Amino acid sequence: MAARPDVVVLGAGVSGLSTGIRLVESGARVLVRTAAPPAHTTSALAGAMVGPNLSPPGDPQRAWTDETLRVLGAEPLPGVAWRDGTLAARPEGATPSFADQTPGFRSLGDDERPAGFGTAFTVRLPLVDMPVYLAYLLERFRDAGGEVRVAPVASLDEAATSAPVVVNCAGLAARTLTGDTGLHPVRGPRIVVRNPGLDRFFMEAPMAPTWASIFPHGDHVVLGGGQRRSDDTTPDPAEEADVLARCVAIEPALAAAEILEHRVGLRPGRAAPRVEAERRGDALVVHNYGHAGNGVMLSWGCAREAAALALGGTPPA
Ligand SMILES: Cc1cc2nc3c(=O)[nH]c(=O)nc-3n(C[C@H](O)[C@H](O)[C@H](O)COP(=O)(O)OP(=O)(O)OC[C@H]3O[C@@H](n4cnc5c(N)ncnc54)[C@H](O)[C@@H]3O)c2cc1C
Repeated sequence: MAARPDVVVLGAGVSGLSTGIRLVESGARVLVRTAAPPAHTTSALAGAMVGPNLSPPGDPQRAWTDETLRVLGAEPLPGVAWRDGTLAARPEGATPSFADQTPGFRSLGDDERPAGFGTAFTVRLPLVDMPVYLAYLLERFRDAGGEVRVAPVASLDEAATSAPVVVNCAGLAARTLTGDTGLHPVRGPRIVVRNPGLDRFFMEAPMAPTWASIFPHGDHVVLGGGQRRSDDTTPDPAEEADVLARCVAIEPALAAAEILEHRVGLRPGRAAPRVEAERRGDALVVHNYGHAGNGVMLSWGCAREAAALALGGTPPA
């Protein structure tokens, strides 16, 4: 980039790239500085299911999710496939009252629910094959004139020497950059197996530390899940066996599936995402981090809001 950027975005995960695209496609000169390329971010480890957002009406996360669903539904995008699948919970009567607004909603009867589940319904949602989707976002950002440098910043003040506006999409690393003690790592396994022929997804409501999630993406299936407050990213064979057992209980065809990958990601846990602006000296800093287990689902909505804050130039009252 020959001229000084208007905006420097920290992070090349789904938050940083989506926000960078919104900014660069609005005409801004945008530099993304990242500690790692997109394929080595937490975002690359997500399953990833988009929606439904079952937070209460009026919660901003509902509108952010709706924006992501709108973008992913507007045109075919690499890595994104709309699929039918089942959402289930162990207790009876756990269907949120507004779940029936989700496309394809149908409540499953007693004889259709998997054993051990008191609540289950089908919906139609986007599944995102994250390595493919992140490569698309990166290409779209660059094609629009954006630049990406693998050059982490040591502080927000250092970032502000690159551009008058800084957008902080550093995920869990925002903890160090901002001192936000509300941000914490939530460990989750990603186990990829060869697809034995599944095309429907399954997701158990994450009401406990472990659950079953089965996300087919063509030739492979991403299995999860688990949530544990830990910053240990070492794959654990016992955890792998546990995930497989829970998923096989839902889809017996997975029992013989070849395991292709086992990695562990750290979700940027926070009570709610932080999307807001603040002044730091002469610089405007816009934060867009802390999306916990929903960063892909919230990505386009948060990107739009963060870009508006960055382009408006003044923090909201
Ligand atoms: C196993 C698993 C399954 C998941 N499944 C889903 C799902 O189904 N649906 C869903 O919506 N979400 C899911 N998530 C959550 C989702 O992955 C995260 O919420 C999302 O990836 C957060 O994206 P991000 O861009 O904010 O952060 P990240 O992807 O962590 O990106 C942070 C970026 O900041 C960069 N960075 C770090 N330090 C610095 C620095 N000092 N200077 C500059 N850059 C820096 C990093 O290199 C990286 O590029 C899942 C997560 C896991 C682990």
